[in-house]
Amino acid sequence: MTSFIPVNEPLLNGKEKQYLNECIDTGWISSEGSFVKQFEVALAERVGRKYGIAVCNGSMALDAAVVALGIGEGDEVILPTFTIISCATAIVRAGAIPVVVDCHPDTWNMDVSQIEAKITSKTKAIMVVHIYGLPVDMAPVLALTQKYGLKLIEDAAEMHGQTYHGKPCGSFGDISTFSFYPNKHITTGEGGMILTDDENLAQRCSSLRNLCFQPQQRFIHEELGWNLRMSNLQAAVGLAQLERLDEFVAQKHSMGKLYTELLANVSGLELPVPHTDYSENIYWVYGLVLKEEIPFEAVEAMKRLRQHNIGTRPFFWCLHEQPVLHKRGLLQNESCPVAEGLARRGFYLPSGLKLTQEQIRRVAEAVKAIFTRAC
Ligand SMILES: *Cc1c(COP(=O)(O)O)cnc(C)c1O
Repeated sequence: MTSFIPVNEPLLNGKEKQYLNECIDTGWISSEGSFVKQFEVALAERVGRKYGIAVCNGSMALDAAVVALGIGEGDEVILPTFTIISCATAIVRAGAIPVVVDCHPDTWNMDVSQIEAKITSKTKAIMVVHIYGLPVDMAPVLALTQKYGLKLIEDAAEMHGQTYHGKPCGSFGDISTFSFYPNKHITTGEGGMILTDDENLAQRCSSLRNLCFQPQQRFIHEELGWNLRMSNLQAAVGLAQLERLDEFVAQKHSMGKLYTELLANVSGLELPVPHTDYSENIYWVYGLVLKEEIPFEAVEAMKRLRQHNIGTRPFFWCLHEQPVLHKRGLLQNESCPVAEGLARRGFYLPSGLKLTQEQIRRVAEAVKAIFTRAC
């Protein structure tokens, strides 16, 4: 039997060990260590932002972003239905209401032409989420935030190193966020970052990150925060990873290119769009969507690939189909046919940075074998 190909394995063969040893040798392992600041400065600089606030993960970065922007009880936030639950969690926990739009069928990102119709007097913000490798078409979104005076939250968790018309993803939001989970382009094991150019927002985010301790009277609190701090150990890994971001992005490009070449003639499969007029796909993950002629859904395709010893993951499940939101009376009567189709017929192949060309070829052979039989 051939060996199992996992859906993701991180690549940690730069200076990660050296920097971690530095933490251990000096005893600086908490969030007070110097790698945290270095990592914040380096990522902010890379993305062209004034402030970076390192946090414990990308989900909580969104929670802090929503609260820091003053979004609360009764406010509405427009976001894609096709995204991770973290986006909705941040909105709902702040007491605000998620309002969703469907996907664009080609890019799988939010269909920005549907946003304006969802804007009401209660709308406070738009939360854009760049999905799977291509950014959201930002120009129309920026025009709307200007026209209606809305805040912009940019979830760039999957977009390290990506650009929109040459401008870095993570530089568009009033607040932008990243995740460093091990399947992202750069990882800290667990981790996240909040980026902004607004000094006041940066201060609010760092206060929320650290239990809203006050500089003057530390243990007297005016507000409730969280402990969202990133440790020096995590930041040490993050800094070593960030040094190699360009290399990682180039590697993802060639992974995507090779998969696309190998799968181009398999009928019944929709492959990721290699580029749009504003960006090249960076293939955070290499997704496949089963066309109508395939008589089964993603769950079955994934099961069959598992029999070939290949790991996969399903696509996101739509927010408007989440039981947890329905139970709260949210998003109950929505219809987003494109996203519903993607959720049922989409999944992704092994896409990690450790994946070899040989493994990619083996995955492509298995996909071909399964889908040549299926049509
Ligand atoms: C990974 C991811 C997150 C969450 O990040 P964690 O660090 O896992 O909490 C948020 N949004 C998107 C779009 C993601 O892909």
